[in-house]
Amino acid sequence: MSRFNVRQVAVLGAGVMGAQIAAHLVNVRVPVVLFDLPAPAGQPGPKSAIAQKAIENLKKLKPAPLGLAAEAARIRAANYEDDLTLLAECDLVIEAIAERLDWKHALYEKIAPHIAPHAILASNTSGLSITALSEPLPEALKPRFCGIHFFNPPRYMQLVELIPTPTTEARHLDQLETFATTTLGKGVVRAKDTPNFIANRVGIAGMLSTMREAEQFGLSYDLVDDLTGKKLGRASSGTFRTADVVGLDTMAHVIRTMQEQLGPDRGNDPFHASYATPPVLAKLIAQGTLGQKAGAGFYRKV
Ligand code: NAD
Repeated sequence: MSRFNVRQVAVLGAGVMGAQIAAHLVNVRVPVVLFDLPAPAGQPGPKSAIAQKAIENLKKLKPAPLGLAAEAARIRAANYEDDLTLLAECDLVIEAIAERLDWKHALYEKIAPHIAPHAILASNTSGLSITALSEPLPEALKPRFCGIHFFNPPRYMQLVELIPTPTTEARHLDQLETFATTTLGKGVVRAKDTPNFIANRVGIAGMLSTMREAEQFGLSYDLVDDLTGKKLGRASSGTFRTADVVGLDTMAHVIRTMQEQLGPDRGNDPFHASYATPPVLAKLIAQGTLGQKAGAGFYRKV
């Protein structure tokens, strides 16, 4: 296999996942250029705000990074208006922007001319079709494009799914797998380009079913989280706290992807039923209480 020397990674999106992926990368000593949208006119310090999100994530690492200042210095904040030329200095570009095909397409068109001719571009989408995502890419970039699906929180969750398209070249997938296992310390599973891949397809259906049962039987969120999380000996926080950490809007995107794939509901189809949105989830999303990123979700304070 040809050598894939990752000297610097660009992470696109400094939201829940992008900021944490950036923090994990610098924690394993890989410098990062962390991109986000430029701040709206009149807002102060847009770039320092982008980097600050990743630094906050570094502070949460357990055990604490040995040299927080040194690691923070490895994050360079950037935006898509002023800094696209920095992409040419990155061997890997990880896209982690909001889960909308049209927004991801628009960004790919903007960044494609700036990506180095050897670099890999990988999307952290939770479940959009990787092949559909690749459509606007120039032919020369398609062999170097795939999905890299981290789980939240990416510093602790061991699993990374790698998802090729029919045009992804095997050697690039091999290179990325080696990087994910040896440098990032992850366990890689290769998934087919099916809606929501493997882990979300199974996991979200389970979470939605638990939410519906909790609502039906009037069980408190704390009780359900005890039963489905740490008290059961699992490392994760249980159904409702996990949903708050993931972001309820992100969960809604994953559900929608699945529903779109299933097509129209012809009634009493068990697959449709398992991906129906529980009323309480729909209500919280409508209120804008989207979980940890909004300060409140199923739990009032997250
Ligand atoms: P988020 O809402 O926290 O952050 C979204 C980011 O996208 C923000 O930085 C925002 O500024 C940026 N953004 C919004 N609109 C944009 C646009 N038009 N162009 C460019 N950037 C734009 O979302 P997140 O939870 O970090 O999710 C990011 C990606 O990672 C999504 O594809 C999501 O499905 C996936 N993902 C999320 C989780 C999770 O648990 N939250 C887990 C795995 C994968």
